[in-house]
Order: sequence, then structure tokens, then C-alpha cells
Amino acid sequence: MAKHVYTFGAGKAEGKADMKNLLGGKGANLAEMNLIGVPVPPGFTITTEVCTMYNEEGQEKTFNRIKPEVEAAVALVEELTGTTFGDKDNPCLLSVRSGARASMPGMMDTVLNLGMNDDAVEGIAKKSGNPRFAWDSYRRFVQMYGDVVMDMKPASKEEHDPFEEIIDELKEEKGIQLDTDFTTEDLKELVRRFKAAVKKVTGKDFPTDPWEQLWGSVAAVFNSWENPRAIFYRRMEQIPDEWGTAVNVQAMVFGNMGESSGTGVAFTRDAGTGEDVFNGEYLINAQGEDVVAGIRTPQEITLSGSRKWAELQGVSEEERASKYPSLEEAMPEIYKQLEETQQKLEDHYKDMQDLEFTIQEGKLWLLQTRNGKRTGAAMVKIAVDLLEQGVIDDKTALKRIDANKLDELLHPVFEASAIKSANEIAKGLPASPGAATGQVVFFADEAAKYPVSILVRVETSPEDLEGMHIAKGILTARGGMTSHAAVVARGMGKCCVSGAGAVKINYKTRIMTIDGKEFQEGDWISLNGSTGKVYEGKITTKDPEMSGDFAKIMNLADKFSRMKVRTNADSPNDAKVARKFGAEGIGLCRTEHMFFEGDRIKAMREMILANNETERRKALEKLLPYQREDFEGILEAMAGFGVTIRLLDPPLHEFVPHEEANQKDMAKEMGISTEAVKALVEDLHEFNPMLGHRGCRLGNTYPEITEMQARAIIEAAVNLKQKGVDVLPEIMVPLIGTVKEYKMQADIIHATAKKVFEEKGSKVDYLVGTMIEVPRAALTADLVANEAEFFSFGTNDLTQMTFGYSRDDAGKFLPIYIEKGILKNDPFQVLDQEGVGQLVKMGVEKGRSVKSDLKVGICGEHGGEPSSVMFCDSVGMDYVSCSPYRVPIARVAAAQANIK
Ligand code: PEP
Ligand code: MG
Repeated sequence: MAKHVYTFGAGKAEGKADMKNLLGGKGANLAEMNLIGVPVPPGFTITTEVCTMYNEEGQEKTFNRIKPEVEAAVALVEELTGTTFGDKDNPCLLSVRSGARASMPGMMDTVLNLGMNDDAVEGIAKKSGNPRFAWDSYRRFVQMYGDVVMDMKPASKEEHDPFEEIIDELKEEKGIQLDTDFTTEDLKELVRRFKAAVKKVTGKDFPTDPWEQLWGSVAAVFNSWENPRAIFYRRMEQIPDEWGTAVNVQAMVFGNMGESSGTGVAFTRDAGTGEDVFNGEYLINAQGEDVVAGIRTPQEITLSGSRKWAELQGVSEEERASKYPSLEEAMPEIYKQLEETQQKLEDHYKDMQDLEFTIQEGKLWLLQTRNGKRTGAAMVKIAVDLLEQGVIDDKTALKRIDANKLDELLHPVFEASAIKSANEIAKGLPASPGAATGQVVFFADEAAKYPVSILVRVETSPEDLEGMHIAKGILTARGGMTSHAAVVARGMGKCCVSGAGAVKINYKTRIMTIDGKEFQEGDWISLNGSTGKVYEGKITTKDPEMSGDFAKIMNLADKFSRMKVRTNADSPNDAKVARKFGAEGIGLCRTEHMFFEGDRIKAMREMILANNETERRKALEKLLPYQREDFEGILEAMAGFGVTIRLLDPPLHEFVPHEEANQKDMAKEMGISTEAVKALVEDLHEFNPMLGHRGCRLGNTYPEITEMQARAIIEAAVNLKQKGVDVLPEIMVPLIGTVKEYKMQADIIHATAKKVFEEKGSKVDYLVGTMIEVPRAALTADLVANEAEFFSFGTNDLTQMTFGYSRDDAGKFLPIYIEKGILKNDPFQVLDQEGVGQLVKMGVEKGRSVKSDLKVGICGEHGGEPSSVMFCDSVGMDYVSCSPYRVPIARVAAAQANIK
């Protein structure tokens, strides 16, 4: 019979670290920590398979099936803790937490202090000698259970949590400010009022039976797998819906039992910079959620961290030492144990760990360890440091790089000159590095209101996730470095300043006040997530400098990759940027972009207006020198590498104005009537231009266009060669579906090249090839390869035509398709390996079946997307080509694809 429940405790465990699929990340690591001698409260994990069973077969059937195992596991926890579940003298209290395969921080539900009721609270009060603590735990339980299991959470953002309202009411009645000012009697009153509220809202009594509480909580955790924020997180992180979550049930340990208790979160290295320094935050006399929720400002664990914090906050050393001492100072013995444990865990897992711990009356317990989320910069530094420290080998270091995350390192920072004159208005914690400038919004669901927004909140919660994703930066008034905002922003690689105490926010009036100065919604502010500084107004940003560690990773990538990485570039400047990022050649130069500048568009329009070939040739004559000059610039910037130049591709209507005012301008410029311009626009109109008169269909109807472009390319190449520049032009025919379409174009190109060589008395090597972007071209790739010298897969059009989704209109339904799970990803971003991938694979195979050394690459957007790059490697492509800023990402993905 399948096993559904895995126990752990007192140095023994039925699971281990490599069982993440079954036990979830948290469960597997709780088991492993037991096995390596780290103190962990005993408990058990209900597997992810049970979650799937729950979703498929329903609650009753599932719970009946696992009941005996759960009861046996609870008995073990009772035995190891010397307590009894539901007992009135010595009750066993439990925590219930989710834990998926991949960590989903704060996305799913948790219930603490489970097992509490009117009897148990007395038992806990007696046993701890601390009635206040017992009643505080009870009221927290009712609140959490009410929110999570009994659906008491507020339904909209305007409403308050009913329990928080009751707390505020009582505070007002009693004339007190802080939760910690409540007396035992007050807490009893809170429990009473909480329960009454539950009854009033749900019509049900608050459950007193611990078993009912346990099963209710397990069900709530399974249900939370399907809550909107968990679903959104899965989409964002591409976590499959089928994985499900495990449930971890553990004996409670209490960080709120008085001054010798506490709780905290720590990182074995700096998650922001990657520096090899132990760091984290803790609170005395508090439970875990107090640290994460940002309700109280936590203190630093290490003395050096604490001093740094004080400096940033402008707190004097005297005040720091007395009011906000580090754990190192406050509890030196516990600190020593924690320090040793963090080292042990990092050595064991060979990666930066993110730990949660609780101190209960002077005893340290670890509640969680996992590979810590980190910024792109920290990811690179930690991988390189661990490699250089001999902890991991070079292949492992490279595998540790999440190629997509390198994007963060390529993002802008403030322009030095602009920041000099900027007015600093507040300072918070440097929660997630980078720079951002944008317009203030106060609600996460309004983040898209402005093209670039900064989300300003008192604190954030998992509900705000989507808005945080959209905003350029996040500013919170409360919360530390491990607050929700900080942790999530770092995971997203998004700039965040947290805990900026000077920021006062009024959600009702939508005004933020800093030192008496008001900022309305829509006002511009800027954030520096690396220093914690907040500035007034818009500040220009610039591209970052790359660190030495970044270069080391890039060198490693080149050591292991088979495929080359080229870039899509239309200008010498783009080509230069891409060279700097390590591009080895151009995979796509879209020549149409060259027709828009200055006089070129005029000549282009003359060409379009031409009534016959002679007139067309006259206009093309004018375009020739411009094109030649452009090609010279690009070929020179990429000297020594192949440069694929594509012939004109878009439908001609893209070169004429569609708005009346611009049509008038054009008429004036061309010396014709506005009516004539309108007639032209009308004439060029197509119902489906993306499937209309474009690509090689233009070149085949107006061969003189191809002739002019081929001449410009070959002349540019010969001119450069004569100057001693190493040139390798590759002329590419777009959008062919039949070999004939290709052949007619290739013949023109070869004939033109021959002519130019004769005229110039000099030759260059060049190739002529084609894009494979029409399904028919992929299906007949062997015939095409008989003629073409190279293939480049245009997966943008190939996706469009394979799915039958218009590239221009898919935005209307794709988000809904993804939300409904009809599609896992946007196929225009992530190559659809199942469908489009078959055509790509077939195209490569058929092409190489007649020309075994056929050069093959990709130049659609997918060429810079890691999973697509890996696919390209698997079908044997020679190179991928992507936008300049994605070149480093593609280089790493190409290497990872080749590491077995
Ligand atoms: C493609 O279709 O994949 C491609 C690169 O060409 P474009 O995006 O210019 O149509
Ligand atoms: Mg295309």
C-alpha cells in the first residue's frame, strides 16, 4: 500500500532531502535536518500525492484513506514531546504548514497553535506558568484558524480583517497602543469576541475538538493550492499545477514565551549582494509571523549587521545597543549555536540557505531550511565564490545560474549626474537592489494605471503579488529586510525600499506625506534599492557595469557550450552593444528599420508610389547609398563574424501614414494630392497583412527591390574588404513556403553579386540562405536545402502560422488562455516544443538530410529564452540569435543545455 505520511523527530526521519517531489521542499528538508543532527520539532509530512488525490477524489475519500497513518504519526509526536493531543493538563499543540516542491513563500496557508481550546489553554497556562502567553496563543489560533479555515478573511481591499477590528476596538476601550499591552483578561475577552464574530459571520461554532481542527487545517492547506495568489505565483514561476502541496504538521515551539524566547529568519550569505556574511533578523518574545508581516521592526542577528543597520537608519550606537541589540549581544550562547548550525547547513547543502528558527525558553529550534532566494547579482557572486572556495565544481556553478535572472544585472542604475542633483526625501532599508523611477500608486491592483509605477504601501501582503510584479519598484513604510515586500521583490529582481518610517500613507485620500510634504497618486518618485534612498521626481537611469564575477560565469559558459550566440541587430550601435555582451555575429538584421530615418522614408514612398518598374528603379537608386552605408556600419561592427541580413519583409502599408494629418504631410512632401495618398493607403490595405503581400512575395513581385538590396550588401562588403575588414555577409530571404519562391530570389542575388564583383574587380565570400518561418517551408525543408546555404528559423511567424494566432491580436486572448490553463506559456515567448518544435526539428532534419553541414540557427524571439535555447541545442542548431540584452542569458542557457 502506498505510504502517505512520513514522520520525523529526535534525529530520525522516514524521508530525506532528495524526496522533494513527494514531501515538498520544506518536508524533505525537515527530514534531512533531523538526519544531520539539527534540532527540529518532531512532526510529519502528508505527501503531495495526497494533495492530488484530494483534488481528484475529494476530501472524504482522501481523509478516510490517510486517517490511520495520520493518527499513528500524531501518536509519535505525542510520544516524542511527552504531551497528548486534546489533553487538558498537558496538551499537544501543533503547527500546520504547506510545502510545495518549489518554495512559494507566503502563497499558501498556515495554522499555528492548533489543539487550543478552553481546556487546553488552562493546561498550557499551568504548564508554562504564564497565563498571558497561553491566552495570547489561544487568541492567535482563533484568529488564524478563523481566517484560514473558516473564511473570515476580508473579501475586499476596503474592508478590514474582522479580528484586527476587534483588536483595535478593545485597544481603544482600554486606552492602549500595543498588542503587548493587553492583559491576560483582555486576551480572554478577545478570544470571547473572536468566537462570537466567527459564529455571527459563519453561523458555526468555533471547533473545540482538536481532531476537527487538524482535519480542517489540512483541508485548508490543500485548498490553498488553488487560491488566486498561489495560482498567480505558479504562473509567474512556471510551477506546474499538477505538483500539489504537501502538508507539514509539527509540534509547536513558542518564540513568544517571554524574554528568553524569540524567533527569526536568517541567510547564510547576503541574499542581496551575495557577500559571504551570515545575516538575518529576529524578534524577542514573538512568533514567526511577526517578523515576516513587518508589524514590529526586527533586530539584526549579528553585531556587524546591527551596526550597519543603525548607520543606515541614523540610530546612534548607544541607542542601538540598548534598544535594538543584535542576537549576538542579547543571547550569545544561542547565537553561537545558530552560527554553527547555519555553517553546518550550508556545508551540507553546498548552497546559500534561508533559515527560520525559534528560540523557546533558551533552546534553539530550526523550523525550516531551503536554498535561499537571491538577486541576480547575489546568484552570480555566490556561484563564483562557492566554486572558488572549492565547495562546488564549475559545471555545478554554471547550473546554479538561472539564466533569466541575469536580466537583472543588465538593468539600469541611476545616471551619476542625474542623481547628484536629486532631492532625497526619505530613507528605508535597501531591500532589493536596482534603481526605479515611476509614478506613485497606492494599491497593487492599480499598478498598471501608469506606464511606469512605484507601488507605495504601509506593508505588502501576498495578495499584492501581481501589482508588485507590474510596478517598477516597491516602497513600504514598515517592515524589515525579511518582510514580505523585501523577500518577494528580491525573488522578482525588483527594486525595493522597505521600512521607510518617514513615509506616512493615507489610503483614503491617496496621499503620501514625507516630512510634511505631500505626494499624490501619479506623482513621480525614484527609488534606489541598493542604498534604501527615496528621491523626489523622475531620475534618468543608465545601464549597469558588469562585475568580474559576471565575466567569470560568461567564460565558464563559453567553455561548456556547443552552440554560438548571435544577436538580432539593425544598427551599428546595437551590434556594438551585443559584441560587448559576447555576441558572435548577427543572426538577423531587419533591413526595414533602416527605411524610416530622414530622407530614406521619402525615397521609400517614392518607390511604393511608382507606377512601373522604371519609376521604381529610380526610387530604389536613391535608397541604394543609404542601404550600403548602413550595411558597411554593421558589417564593420561585427568584423570577423557572420552577419545575416534579411531582405525587405513587412507589407508595404507599414511605410505609409494612416493618420490624416500625416497623410497631408506626405502629400505635401511628395508633391501629390492628399486624395492620391489616401488612394494609395487604400490600395495597400489588406485584410490580413501578416499573411499578405510581404516577405519574399514582395521580392518576387518587385525583383528590383531584391536587386537593390543585394547590390547594397555586396558593394558594402567589397568596400570593407578593400579596406582590410574581415566581412562575412549572409543574405537571407524571408517568408518562403516553396523552394521556387526561394530559388527566384537566390538567382537574383547571385546574378547581382556577380555583376558587382565584375564592376569592382574584387570578390567577397557570401552566403545566400532562407528563413524557415512558414510551416510549408519546414515540411519541405529537404527541397529548400538543395538550394539554400543556410536556414534560420523565424519562430515568431512559425508560431503565428502553426497556431493560427495572429501575432498582432493574440494579446486579446492569450492572457485568458494562460489563466485558464489552456496554454502553459505565451507561445510567442516560450517556444511550443510540442507543436512548433516538431516543425523546427523536422526542418533541421530534412535540411541536413540533403546537406549534412547545413548551417542552422534561430532568430525568433525564442532565441533568448532559456528553455527554447535548450531545445535549439537538442535539435542540433549551430547558433541562436537574440536581442543584444539577452545575449548573456542565451550564452548561459546554451552552456547549460550542453552540460550532461
Ligand atoms: C520571425 O518571424 O521569427 C522573425 C524573426 O521575423 P519577424 O519577427 O521580423 O517577422
Ligand atoms: Mg518573420
